[in-house]
Amino acid sequence: MTPDVRDGARGRPSRGAPARVLGGTAERPGGQAVGETAWTRVLSLVRQADEVALACHVSPDGDALGSMLAVGLVLRSMGKRVVASFGDRNFAVPRLLRFLPGQDLLVPPAGYPAEPDLMITFDSSTLDRLGLLAVNAGKAREVVVMDHHPSNTGFGTIGIIDPDAAATAVLAEQLIYRLGGGLDRDVATCLYAGLVTDTGSFRHSSTTASAHEMAARLVATGLRTDEIARELWDRSPFGYLKVLGAALERVTLEDGLIWTYVTRLDRAAYGLPYEEVEAIIDVVRRTDEAEVAVVLKEDDLGAWQVSTRSKGAVDMAAVCAALGGGGHRSAAGFTSHESVEATMDNIRALLPRKA
Ligand code: AMP
Ligand code: MN
Ligand code: MN
Repeated sequence: MTPDVRDGARGRPSRGAPARVLGGTAERPGGQAVGETAWTRVLSLVRQADEVALACHVSPDGDALGSMLAVGLVLRSMGKRVVASFGDRNFAVPRLLRFLPGQDLLVPPAGYPAEPDLMITFDSSTLDRLGLLAVNAGKAREVVVMDHHPSNTGFGTIGIIDPDAAATAVLAEQLIYRLGGGLDRDVATCLYAGLVTDTGSFRHSSTTASAHEMAARLVATGLRTDEIARELWDRSPFGYLKVLGAALERVTLEDGLIWTYVTRLDRAAYGLPYEEVEAIIDVVRRTDEAEVAVVLKEDDLGAWQVSTRSKGAVDMAAVCAALGGGGHRSAAGFTSHESVEATMDNIRALLPRKA
């Protein structure tokens, strides 16, 4: 693993007293792989700034939006002007994430500073993943990149990048402590959404002791884990069940690979927005007979957004990177403008052959 090597300060211990947080003293868990030089530069830039422009990846998930809003809330409480956004053409907070506090910080990409002095990006592994805001990042004076994807391309002027962090929310919590900010229930709710999203509710291999320790600090603020879980996973419109049914009807199992697809026509029949089908992969990937699961989801513009999962034996980040995307070993994705069959052929060609 290569943590932020750009300042060559890998692995140095943290300086200064541990931050006081509700429920005890945090030993600044997570983010230790990030060099102190990078942290020092970030803190100094943030302290000097009057306005901070925050951005996360397009079609934000709980980690992207949660990390960004948590930091946004804390910066605003410190008297900074804060704008936060993500670069989707159809700018709308996914239904699942509308319960997150701090959404009054959000502005659509058109209202975002054209040339921010200080921009901070969250959970975005490439400049492209910023969508429309990639242009703003290109013109910003400083771009701090906070991320945990091993595939991070090293864009931006300062990297706070730790591939061992379970979520970008881990690094966001670090930033908050280092700025001297505390966790209130709203900030903790945003961070918790990031942590539980990326650990799959503490099921994935990223679920370390320090991930649970972070959860304990967050829960100690009084947040409602039951309500957050219901918002994130346990509700959907009626049409979701019908579209899930259509996807499962055409699921195909072939030699360790399970796959299906969802068209925009499937969704149109029930007025179901694209974001609602993102969870279908979680049903498909449970198949015992398959190591790799793939769901192709046609978006509103006719492109296929491809979700892939492996149980660990196959590196899907490498497969998806070869097809123009990226992600993590066991959860990765890419965008395809080819047909379903051609897209599947591209994937098959990159999967290891079974002996
Ligand atoms: P998803 O299947 O959409 O939940 O995505 C799983 C992971 O794959 C995400 O955490 C991203 O890191 C990555 N990913 C998904 N789509 C893309 C894409 N088009 N380009 C790069 N990475 C992607
Ligand atoms: Mn993400
Ligand atoms: Mn993440």
